[in-house]
Amino acid sequence: MRTQVGIVGAGPAGLLLGRMLQNLGIDAVVLESRSRDYVLARIRAGVLEQGTVDTLIAQGIGDRLRRQGMVHENMQIRWAGRRNDFTVEDEKGRRLTTYGQAEIVKDLIERREADNLPLLFSAPAQRIENVETRPRIHFTHEGAERTLDCDFVAGCDGFHGVCRKHIPNADDRTFLKTYPYGWLGILAEAAPHAEIRGFAHSTRGFAVASARSPKIGRLYLQVDRNEDIERWSDEAIWDELDRRFEDGSGHRLNRGRILKKDLAPLRAFVCEAMQHGRIFLAGDAAHIVPPSGAKGLNSAVGDVRVLAEGLRRHFAGTGSDLLDHYAEICLRRIWATVHWSCLLTDTLHIAPNQTGFDLQMQYATLNHWAKTELGRQHFCNAMLGLPYEV
Ligand SMILES: Cc1cc2nc3c(=O)[nH]c(=O)nc-3n(C[C@H](O)[C@H](O)[C@H](O)COP(=O)(O)OP(=O)(O)OC[C@H]3O[C@@H](n4cnc5c(N)ncnc54)[C@H](O)[C@@H]3O)c2cc1C
Repeated sequence: MRTQVGIVGAGPAGLLLGRMLQNLGIDAVVLESRSRDYVLARIRAGVLEQGTVDTLIAQGIGDRLRRQGMVHENMQIRWAGRRNDFTVEDEKGRRLTTYGQAEIVKDLIERREADNLPLLFSAPAQRIENVETRPRIHFTHEGAERTLDCDFVAGCDGFHGVCRKHIPNADDRTFLKTYPYGWLGILAEAAPHAEIRGFAHSTRGFAVASARSPKIGRLYLQVDRNEDIERWSDEAIWDELDRRFEDGSGHRLNRGRILKKDLAPLRAFVCEAMQHGRIFLAGDAAHIVPPSGAKGLNSAVGDVRVLAEGLRRHFAGTGSDLLDHYAEICLRRIWATVHWSCLLTDTLHIAPNQTGFDLQMQYATLNHWAKTELGRQHFCNAMLGLPYEV
């Protein structure tokens, strides 16, 4: 097999890149290690920046997003037993939209299949040869060993992928922060409560109440990063969520059948070696943020925009400037996003050895964001996301 761009990974980064390249008339083959069913069932992100929404619509895959996405102009954070409302809309009309990552992935897969473009499931990339000159991806598919020759490789294969390993000395340019806690997440057949949304900072730990649709809720509890989540009964989860969201109003979360329960350990990770020769990393393959800021998928979109435009210029023969500076351009946005996500995480979670002093520092930061003009603007801009350079 031969193509212009070999894309490893059919998560949001790989699939969106495939779509953008298609619209630019550049051939690509997408290889995905997991089965189609597995990829479609994977529940993850859900909060989209305006830039992500606009990008998806501009690429012709925003029909369902426009119809079903839930737009928010404000969000709630509770602390010290009280609810505070924050505006997340700016003068340009930028807002946040809730639309599940699984739905974006479905829209992209169905579109690629309808357009008859190559997307191979259960096709894990094993290794890549000649990353500096003429890359050849070795992968397996339907029990056979196969190869894909390409001009460029886009490593969109997430944190556990193989592409990063093909960048020499990548570990020397990698930064990692591991948090002592994680998020116990549930997906529940419970209509999100209009009066109980957003974040809760409680001395018992952090909690999140978000929506995936008008009938399905996605909620999280801060727990130890090694928590045995099976010891949490459904009732215990709902009771704990209610305790953490307590604000004196008497409102209680709508309860319903828990469809899925998972644990996500929190970490921040940046591999600055995002490119080498003809291989480029995008999305979680190069960086992970703690989910508090809801920035992971949004950051992947930022990378893909730069990469698609860089490849367009290369194949159009109008210069390699963008590809040459791909990592440098992406990293400016990534580090600013990591900074915000970590600040939000530190401010909202209760650390294992947290002191009363630490708690007061958290309240001071939250009060600054809620009650000063400067703080409100900072919070709103950070939640809405940085503008794109490309
Ligand atoms: C609990 C939680 C909540 C989150 N909430 C948000 C949110 O609200 N907003 C937000 O923006 N982000 C959020 N995120 C982060 C977001 O889900 C990720 O940043 C996003 O999935 C990154 O997309 P990606 O395509 O880079 O990587 P992935 O989605 O990880 O996709 C990588 C793909 O590569 C495949 N792959 C791996 N190895 C190989 C191989 N060898 N060969 C072929 N394929 C391979 C994988 O199977 C996978 O399909 C959240 C994450 C978690 C865990």
